[in-house]
Amino acid sequence: MSQSETPRTDISSLGEFGLIKHLTSNFLPQNSSTVFGIGDDAAVIDCPGEHYQLVSTDLLLEGIHFDLMYCPLKHLGYKSVVVNLSDIYAMNGTPEQILFSFGVSNRFSVEALEEIYKGVELACKTYEVDLIGGDTSSSKQGLMLSVTAIGKVIKERIVYRHTAREGDLVCVSGDLGAAYCGLQFLEREKQIYLESPKVQPELEDHAYVLGRQLKPEARRDIVKHLDNYNILPTSMIDVSDGLSSDIMHICNRSKTGVQLYEENIPVSREAYEAALTFNLDPMTCALNGGEDYELLFTISKDDRSKLDQIMSDLSVIGTIGAAADGMKLYTKSGNSYDLLAQGWQHMENK
Ligand SMILES: [Mg+2]
Repeated sequence: MSQSETPRTDISSLGEFGLIKHLTSNFLPQNSSTVFGIGDDAAVIDCPGEHYQLVSTDLLLEGIHFDLMYCPLKHLGYKSVVVNLSDIYAMNGTPEQILFSFGVSNRFSVEALEEIYKGVELACKTYEVDLIGGDTSSSKQGLMLSVTAIGKVIKERIVYRHTAREGDLVCVSGDLGAAYCGLQFLEREKQIYLESPKVQPELEDHAYVLGRQLKPEARRDIVKHLDNYNILPTSMIDVSDGLSSDIMHICNRSKTGVQLYEENIPVSREAYEAALTFNLDPMTCALNGGEDYELLFTISKDDRSKLDQIMSDLSVIGTIGAAADGMKLYTKSGNSYDLLAQGWQHMENK
């Protein structure tokens, strides 16, 4: 077949998740130690004893996932580790090791790389994980980071995405939408800087939403709380793409529907005000913003009273329903809308 006859399909026609499915559907496990491969926050590997091993990896590219005009290098190192640890927590696991790799052009100095590693070190200390290896390469342009996190989970306490059941309650930790609002301030100040470099940035008043974007934390505390109160979620995922897209992952994998209630979806005062500054609907930021790294999980209705004892930082935002009833958001005014997955922006818009 000549070059001109080779079929060409645009990547964007499949979307990020469709692309992964398309490329990997022929890969069937050949080893009995592969308990669960592609399709959850982390892969699950069998090993002797009472634990499974968990492995998760992420790739971060300059200009796609981060912009060095406003992302301090130390924060970048910290965030690159934390977002991976979040995937291990989302399996109800405990991260223990990371591998950290980077590709870098001669635009970067040793001092710049040291700054990134300061952030990596701080994340390792904070979350008690060990840096055990990685790889380095030169890059023609831009900075590329890759982090692999390794963790463990007690076998009977592993929590997948595909195990939500009809009637379960949908819960989320913390608040949603702030990371996206933080990004809006950073983008605005970048444009102002590009047009008039002498203007001082106006960022002091927005510390909360900026912190949520630049230096997110993984919710290790929530995993511990749930364990302390003997609540085992029936399914779990971390909110990286946005509430809407991430609850759809749970429902699609679990073959269920969901009803979410807008009035219960947690949005901080800071995010609410920031969204209005940019003429954005705060709820749209919460549903589709992404990068909040909160834990989204389902629990049995029987665990509701135990959940109420955990005073800190959890919201019950909906109920898992039958697949035939669809995935819906009920607004404060009583209208209902189909949830939309809009978490593909890395592939489609940037
Ligand atoms: Mg995840």
